[in-house]
Amino acid sequence: MGEQLKEKLFTKREEGWKEVDEKQKQEIMKISEEYMAFLNNSKTEREFIKNAKKLADDNGYTDIINKTELKPGDKVYFINREKSMYLAIIGENSIEENGMHIIGSHVDSPRLDLKPNPLCEEGGLAYFKTHYYGGIKKYQWTTIPLSLHGVIVKTNGEKVEINIGENETDPIFTITDLLPHLAQQQMEKKLKEGIDGEDLKLLIGSIPFEDDKVQEKVKLNILNILNKKYDITEADFMSSELELVPAFRARTLGFDESMVAAYGQDDKVCAYTSLSAMMNLEAVKNTAVCILSDKEEIGSMGNTGMESHMFDFFISEILNKLGVNKPNLLDRVFCFSKMLSSDVDAGYDPIYASVSDSLNAGYLGRGIALNKYTGARGKSGASDANAEYVGWVRNVLEKNNIKYQITELGKVDIGGGGTIAYILANKGTDVIDCGVPVLSMHAPYEVTSKYDIYSAYKTYEAFWKE
Ligand code: MN
Ligand code: MN
Repeated sequence: MGEQLKEKLFTKREEGWKEVDEKQKQEIMKISEEYMAFLNNSKTEREFIKNAKKLADDNGYTDIINKTELKPGDKVYFINREKSMYLAIIGENSIEENGMHIIGSHVDSPRLDLKPNPLCEEGGLAYFKTHYYGGIKKYQWTTIPLSLHGVIVKTNGEKVEINIGENETDPIFTITDLLPHLAQQQMEKKLKEGIDGEDLKLLIGSIPFEDDKVQEKVKLNILNILNKKYDITEADFMSSELELVPAFRARTLGFDESMVAAYGQDDKVCAYTSLSAMMNLEAVKNTAVCILSDKEEIGSMGNTGMESHMFDFFISEILNKLGVNKPNLLDRVFCFSKMLSSDVDAGYDPIYASVSDSLNAGYLGRGIALNKYTGARGKSGASDANAEYVGWVRNVLEKNNIKYQITELGKVDIGGGGTIAYILANKGTDVIDCGVPVLSMHAPYEVTSKYDIYSAYKTYEAFWKE
């Protein structure tokens, strides 16, 4: 009697894998394989957007700039400076009455950027100086293979694309650390001070240029190599965006092959699953919008971040080309819209259980994680989803048999975080955070569950079909 009542009344918290049949398991593995293949070619925001454009072009999407008018069923995108992208399928319903169904993720990830004057020589070795991007634990970025990605733009406008360290035959780069034998003082430091930001210097060469009379021979030799290969001089680094990312490949993790280990899963796991769900979407009732934003990891500022008005511009273009635009319609559309802020959640890590409230943590393998609110210390800075909207989202998930968990990022007063949710919420849209739990978030190698990746795909698909 008690057991039956419990079954009826208690919130179900169970392993997603438990109910997976063979056919579903194959689907789960297939999505993860495709995701890992995409990740291996999309480690930076520019690469992700380039590959997303290819996918969109292959699936019948058109650059909105090339369209003069739009009608239901049309598929369009806008690419913002090669670093962020917005896609849409025009719905059957009136956008004025029903708004849009938006899913928003980000494609930038924590990394090391080169400084504008990066090249130097010390003690017969050549280095690139770096400035880290996003919240990293600096010690994790030493003594691992790093690859160099990005662009160098010359004064004549020519753009040189760089990608070194991903192919087996490429050289890689690394940041050295002190040997334990001489690290006595370093080991006494606090963990966060163990590696100084200025010491994240990338080792890039050691052969001196053959001329006894010249100074900085190793630096000269490196510049000579770069000049021959890319036709650049040292000054061209001023107008470059070069990023260092782990040279690791995305791999299947575990004897049971249940997980994915990869760099940049925050937030490319949600970006990829939402993009992929959108590619398989046909006629929708409500206009479906997919945001792949940039600069989330450093506060969403700048014209490629979500704080910029570039997204408003995209929606205004849709309203203009649908022929329905009028004063204040954009505001109205945002107010009637619904959004999933699809960003990753902190996965419950049993090794570090003390930072999580076990009743409100996101567990690997239990499906998509909803965060009703973000913020830190008394919900400060939180984007808090309205109960009415959370109820609506739960209904969508439950009627589509999608396993979900509702979570909080860590214990009260332990820390916290934020996403792009508040930006759309500030425009009047109903927003909830909704993503995949991750272990070792922001580390060079992050871990997710293939079951949750699959759940994310299913969630985004169901939300857009609503
Ligand atoms: Mn994120
Ligand atoms: Mn992040």
